[in-house]
Amino acid sequence: MVGAGLSGAVIGRTLAEAGHDITIVDTRDHIGGNCHTERDTATGVLVHVYGPHIFHTDDAGVWDYVTSFVAFKPYTNRVKTTARGQVFSLPVNLHTINQFFGKTMRPEEARAFIAETQADTSIDTPQTFEEQALKFVGPDLYETFFKGYTMKQWGCHPSELPASILKRLPLRFNYDDNYFSHRFQGMPEHGYTDLIARILDHPSIAVHLDTRFDRSKAGEYDHVFYSGPLDGFFDYELGQLGYRTLDFERFTHDGDYQGCAVMNYGDADVPYTRITEHKHFAPWESHDASVCYREFSRACGPDDIPYYPIRQVKEKALLADYVKLAETTENTTFVGRLGTYRYLDMDVTIREALDTAQGYLDALENRRPI
Ligand code: FAD
Ligand code: UDP
Repeated sequence: MVGAGLSGAVIGRTLAEAGHDITIVDTRDHIGGNCHTERDTATGVLVHVYGPHIFHTDDAGVWDYVTSFVAFKPYTNRVKTTARGQVFSLPVNLHTINQFFGKTMRPEEARAFIAETQADTSIDTPQTFEEQALKFVGPDLYETFFKGYTMKQWGCHPSELPASILKRLPLRFNYDDNYFSHRFQGMPEHGYTDLIARILDHPSIAVHLDTRFDRSKAGEYDHVFYSGPLDGFFDYELGQLGYRTLDFERFTHDGDYQGCAVMNYGDADVPYTRITEHKHFAPWESHDASVCYREFSRACGPDDIPYYPIRQVKEKALLADYVKLAETTENTTFVGRLGTYRYLDMDVTIREALDTAQGYLDALENRRPI
């Protein structure tokens, strides 16, 4: 098993419970992959080391799975954004619309009002992020909340990005400011690394940190589940798949810095996309001092951590070529956000890992090729 993140842990645990001996290697000096959390020694704040992670899902099976290992505390993600000198509530909801346009509209009035601004755009089937945003919220809200942020986040104009990126976000004509619409949402009480440690805690699982896997070692195992970068597995022989990486500028603050966990910055001339104040991810804890991250996005170089797959037209073509190579690679299954070059939320990662492991066990039992 390559990678001690959620993919590696869940597949490893499922196979270990079925009687297999599992070796997991990870280049990092900790388990947890990009979900890794650790306590800051000076303040005691639980820090989301690779950026903010909120667990949310509609998949009852996945929710039962994670809550069978650790306790989850209720947590609702309420994101704010600072734009044009004011603070607004996200995702765009009735409060945002009324505040932005200086009105006191009721739901149906706001719906009609936004529909009128949308009518100006005459876009039937949006293809790009920009078209989707114009159709979704109209030009004023698009320019204020989405255009600048998206250019900073993705390093290109929203007209060059697929509409699917924005489709993740809701538009609400009520005062519900929950960032997610899923049935289950929460935070593991002692962080994600604790959750992943519990999943890995099985006598048939051995974890080796600070250990890099390369494909010359594949023959040492019955089967390899690889959750590292797809192009990295093949030593980038066809070229590099495009990613955005993140830089976190960490700072501490006495008391409360911003009063919420996530504050986005919509203006293009503010160089960072958002500031996260980690203690607010654990509202059941009490800390005087604060640990905050200013988050900057930029193109990912060969030595950087890949965060967001770009998936523009040229990446999709290269991806198709790597997928062909992957399909002809014996004894190896490519999994997780890096192994499949997709933006996967944690719940989807877990669902796919459970299904992959079960598929492997079924194939073994029925002597089908894997
Ligand atoms: P990873 O966590 O990346 O684990 C892969 C592991 O493989 C890494 O530890 C790496 O070191 C190791 N590895 C790679 N190559 C090798 C090699 N050659 N040899 C050995 N080890 C190797 N999801 C949500 O549901 N909610 C959120 O709020 C959320 N926020 C996010 C915020 C950010 C900024 C990002 C980037 C993602 C966010 N996600 C969120 C998604 C979440 O991070 C992923 O779903 C999850 O990390 C995927 O787990 P994984 O095991 O597939 O990959
Ligand atoms: N987005 C934006 N302004 C915001 C928040 C999001 O323009 O204040 C855009 C941005 O392009 C982002 C996308 O909407 O990539 C999806 O938002 P989400 O919060 O899901 O981003 P992620 O969790 O991927 O960082």
